[in-house]
Amino acid sequence: MSILLPTSIVGSLPKPSWLAEPETLWSPWKLEGAELDEGRRDALHLAAAEQALAGLDIIADGEQTRQHFVTTFIEHLSGVDFARRETVRIRDRYDASVPTVVGPVGRERPVFVDDAATLRALTDRPLKWALPGPMTMIDTLHDAHYGSREELAREFAAILNQEARELEAAGVDIIQFDEPAFNVFLDDVRSWGVEVLERAAEGLRAETVVHICYGYGIKANTDWKATLGPQWRQYEETFPLLRASSIDTVSLESRGSRVPVELVELLRGKTVMLGAIDVADPRIETPQEVADTLRAALDVVDADLLRPSTNCGMAPLARTVAQGKMRALVAGTELLRAELSGS
Ligand SMILES: [Zn+2]
Repeated sequence: MSILLPTSIVGSLPKPSWLAEPETLWSPWKLEGAELDEGRRDALHLAAAEQALAGLDIIADGEQTRQHFVTTFIEHLSGVDFARRETVRIRDRYDASVPTVVGPVGRERPVFVDDAATLRALTDRPLKWALPGPMTMIDTLHDAHYGSREELAREFAAILNQEARELEAAGVDIIQFDEPAFNVFLDDVRSWGVEVLERAAEGLRAETVVHICYGYGIKANTDWKATLGPQWRQYEETFPLLRASSIDTVSLESRGSRVPVELVELLRGKTVMLGAIDVADPRIETPQEVADTLRAALDVVDADLLRPSTNCGMAPLARTVAQGKMRALVAGTELLRAELSGS
């Protein structure tokens, strides 16, 4: 990317209150049928406009057309029975009622490709689109067919690769795979997780990103974070594996977290999307705070490989807060750009 320190959000933005209940994670739609289709497209327009107004360099969909970052994708697949639900422990952290895999999984039709074409027509800036990662997908389901987490993840990787290739053809420049599960199942990441992720990204000309975070600012996550001790070192296990992988970019959280920033050194040579906005705190960062977070990473990542970003999605926040945080991200990045250029 030609611009220094290109900015972007990681994932979701709050939805308009006429589309879904505000400040609620995974809120059900307020519209139905053709009105819902139109509402989701309108929300995509708004999200693109808000990102451009804030001055972000890379535009994302803000997850305006999906209710849940994993489930909405799975809803489009065959082999999954949404009426047959089981309660499972998600990310070893909280119980949720999830659908069941009852047969071979397959993608019946494109999931987000029409939405991506809509977004492509709205902006000339580079587009980033997030998909769930294979390990995070299997963690959000009950499997009554494959009997192997790895095998089911491989099936999902093949499906994700089909979708990613079509998103690329629709004009998406950056494909991001969300793998919060990579911070939890460290043995699986080592034995098959990274390899399966590479399969999902195979053959893409688009830049590929893996986003690994400590989750939204919901209670189950903040309670979990409280158990992780004074230093969060999960990335220490995964970053060397990702550095050796074919994935171009790693997205991680920094601001407000207990991740020692020196762990980013383990990614040397990769592009790093660094979270300089805390999505678990409604207070809007000052530009100086954003610049401080980014500057602290410059010892361990080259400036031309650093991408200022948010820690995670902003769906549970008020819209005005999310807008303020996007502007703070841009303003803080501009401070650092000025420092680096000596002006
Ligand atoms: Zn995240």
